[in-house]
Amino acid sequence: NIWMNILSYSLVTLMCHLLNVYGLIQHFHLDMVKLLRFLGMVQDDYHSHNPYHNALHAADVTQAMYCYLKESKLAELLSPTDVFLGLLAAAAHDVDHPGVNQPFLIKTGHHLASLYQNTSVLESHHWRSTVGMLRESGLLSHLPLCMRQDIEQQLGSLILATDISRQNEFLSTFREHLNHQSLDLHQAPHRHFILQIALKCADVCNPCREWNLSRQWSERVCEEFYRQGDIEKKFALEVSPLCNQQEDSVPSIQIGFISHIVEPLFEEWCRFTEPSPLSHTMMDLLQQNKTCWMGHAHLKEEEVDGGGENRGPVANP
Ligand SMILES: [Zn+2]
Repeated sequence: NIWMNILSYSLVTLMCHLLNVYGLIQHFHLDMVKLLRFLGMVQDDYHSHNPYHNALHAADVTQAMYCYLKESKLAELLSPTDVFLGLLAAAAHDVDHPGVNQPFLIKTGHHLASLYQNTSVLESHHWRSTVGMLRESGLLSHLPLCMRQDIEQQLGSLILATDISRQNEFLSTFREHLNHQSLDLHQAPHRHFILQIALKCADVCNPCREWNLSRQWSERVCEEFYRQGDIEKKFALEVSPLCNQQEDSVPSIQIGFISHIVEPLFEEWCRFTEPSPLSHTMMDLLQQNKTCWMGHAHLKEEEVDGGGENRGPVANP
């Protein structure tokens, strides 16, 4: 499928470009052949048939991460290792995603669920896969062992932070830091925490993009949920929350996602990056998109009630 090849190559192209503009290829003395081999492996390990969790999502998150790392609060304090880790984690954070969620893997007795003892199953797998590819490609083999180990560990801590079930833990720590103005970005652990938050923001930033893009991501993620729901129905398993196409509409899923996950996180990110034109633009778009989905949900209700004609642009083309 040529189109998917182009889409997935965008991850390799984007990463090469970003590592180059930051001078990281030179800084870490990276071998271009090994780098391309590694990035090619990452790209190929994304499943191109997943509607959402494919290499294009990885490229999207990487692009967002780059923008967040450029925030004036951060940019000058980040070390080359911080930037390298941030971009690498973004590019690889969902690698080999099976297109179903953790509860599905647990209830179907998937080997990954037992391997990672039902905890951060997917995120652990994304991380360990990335480490495997780093080692296999030999990308960092010229660096001292302690530095390689440190990179692998930090990569794990970043990717594991994308586990949405740990959202409240991160959000309250972030809020606490902002309330007490206790973040000191001259300290490496504090910069690492902000990298975790930035990656979490990048991972859920779809509703902060312009409606036309935002809507397509929303439809894609719901399509992936519905596919899981269809498999669950087929095997007479209980249908997971948000995965029932008959009951969980795209607008209702999006309104819940925005209100409970995206909005609270970006409110704090906006506070942290203040003054940031980008954060303000994102908050504006977030509100506009939420309003749009509310309008669509309302239309859907009218349709269900039989009161409205089929005029909502809710259905996929
Ligand atoms: Zn993701």
